[in-house]
Amino acid sequence: MVYQANHNRYAEMKYNRTGKSGLKLPAISLGLWHNFGGIDNHENGRAMLLRAFDLGITHFDLANNYGPPPGSAEEMFGRVMKTDLAPYRDELIISTKAGYHMWEGPYGEWGSKKYLISSLDQSLKRMGLEYVDIFYSHRPDPDTPLEETMGALDQIVRQGKALYVGISSYSVEQTKEAVSILKDLGTPLLIHQPSYSMLNRWVEDGLQDVLEEHGVGSIAFCPLAQGLLTNKYVTGIPSDSRASKLSGFLKEKDITEDKISKINRLNELASRRDQSLAQMALAWVLRGERVTSALIGASRVSQIEENIAALNNLNFLPEELAEIEKILK
Ligand code: NDP
Repeated sequence: MVYQANHNRYAEMKYNRTGKSGLKLPAISLGLWHNFGGIDNHENGRAMLLRAFDLGITHFDLANNYGPPPGSAEEMFGRVMKTDLAPYRDELIISTKAGYHMWEGPYGEWGSKKYLISSLDQSLKRMGLEYVDIFYSHRPDPDTPLEETMGALDQIVRQGKALYVGISSYSVEQTKEAVSILKDLGTPLLIHQPSYSMLNRWVEDGLQDVLEEHGVGSIAFCPLAQGLLTNKYVTGIPSDSRASKLSGFLKEKDITEDKISKINRLNELASRRDQSLAQMALAWVLRGERVTSALIGASRVSQIEENIAALNNLNFLPEELAEIEKILK
């Protein structure tokens, strides 16, 4: 059946301005790191993408290497573009990245101009797109001059292959430098994509201030700590979870007793707020409007529905924030 997007798709979602740019992003975006690869069920992935769009998620985040196998998440997304989403291209913000290992030889990873430009050309082919909305340098390269990596991002925008550019996992100092180089080149840095969750707060140590000062947006990846900040692991490791899969990046050893105890206490607080733990964890990342978008992953449609309902209660009482600090200590 031909897909028809929900007429009310923009009614409930909140859209936040990305730094000082003209671009708004949904408060919750969907990433295709896990569960959209060649080893996964296509129809499940397609159902998640379409349900997300129907609920106002306009932003889908990819990278050259998402799969497994690497490249297959972009191919999967390209198929759904072709069958369902092509009529809505102008309503979508599609991002991809290059930085991690993608192909053999000296030009298949890190931050050279050679790698970034050829990788984006490959990504566009896999997704069947003429351009992406945001292209990222996926990780800082200690051996390539930042001028070259940022110069490649600028060139990509001038070639019309991306509308905006971003960086991911750059430190405070690297971010300041990137901002300044890109400003001189005339292609401002749109967004930074760092990890950020209740269990991983490095961005609070200076990065958020730098982004705010320079009008750069931020999109927080792994806001649910890969599923730890949900009710999933409260009583053990279920067989249908990321931690139980060989291909997943969450390992059993990451689920320590200390974390389980914190998760249980956070879960109790979330119930007092009439929220699930996942909803509270997303509301917490979005608190104070310092984060443009929380970039979630999902393995099934119901998780996307539950997570979007976080937007029904984004407010925290000072006592609740204090209790969270106490639990996380
Ligand atoms: P999350 O922290 O949101 O974890 C998502 C996982 O948590 C899901 O796959 C699911 O796992 C579980 N989950 C989600 N919602 C619920 C729920 N309501 N109840 C129970 N379990 C739930 O993010 P990800 O780790 O998936 O990362 C999100 C995106 O961030 C990626 O897709 C990617 O786009 C981006 N990213 C970027 C990186 C970078 O270097 N720039 C690095 C990593 C991610 P399960 O399979 O167990 O059901």
